[in-house]
Amino acid sequence: MRDRQRSRRAGAVVLLGLPGSGKGTQAARLAAAFGVPALSTGEMLRCEVRDGTPIGQTVRHLIERGALVGDDLVGQILSARLRHSSCQTGCVLDGYPRTIAQARFLDRFLRNRGFRLPAVVYLDVNKEEVVARLSTRLECPECRRTYSMTDCGSGLCGSDGARLIHRADDDHRVINERFRLYEENTKPLLRYYAGARLYRIAATGAPDQVFGRLMEAVGHRYESGSGSILAERRVPGKVILTPATAG
Ligand SMILES: [Zn+2]
Repeated sequence: MRDRQRSRRAGAVVLLGLPGSGKGTQAARLAAAFGVPALSTGEMLRCEVRDGTPIGQTVRHLIERGALVGDDLVGQILSARLRHSSCQTGCVLDGYPRTIAQARFLDRFLRNRGFRLPAVVYLDVNKEEVVARLSTRLECPECRRTYSMTDCGSGLCGSDGARLIHRADDDHRVINERFRLYEENTKPLLRYYAGARLYRIAATGAPDQVFGRLMEAVGHRYESGSGSILAERRVPGKVILTPATAG
């Protein structure tokens, strides 16, 4: 009972980082380690549309008209997901919040339900490195796993065998524009979260190294009764890891 109470308070971990910082990959790994779902706005919206829910129909109309899906609607979808039993012990959020209004909404929602406020991790990368990585990135159209051109000779997805594709929005010009927009939106968020719950980690190096830093930063939030490695990695307070020097 006490374990359940404690894990209930784990709450959310929010991952922020430039497109191509490996956010999606790290969110999935973190979620798997903690046994909680990884939620991304894009994926949540797609689910609603696919399932034809009333919200999904509204979203579909908005997208067809080329309109943005507003904070209110995204908030409704997110809160429905967070109420789901799979999110009882927490979740990893990738791509949400994007705005201060969304960040406030999330804080309020979690606080009202007796969860801790989210820990926020900013995955810090070197822009040039990301451009190089993204422009040589391949994606599985089925499961959306990403591969680099160098480590995928077969051109097929390792999990489902689908033929990998190079996304049009992974081109230099498009990437730079996405960076500009992302930074414009993210700076206010970093200011909002500044303080004890914001962790900044170097997202350079191998995914395993990045994941290690991520666990050092937030692993303590999800100590479980199952005797996992998490307890040993407890780090009190804020951790700032300076970026590794570029090779
Ligand atoms: Zn796949």
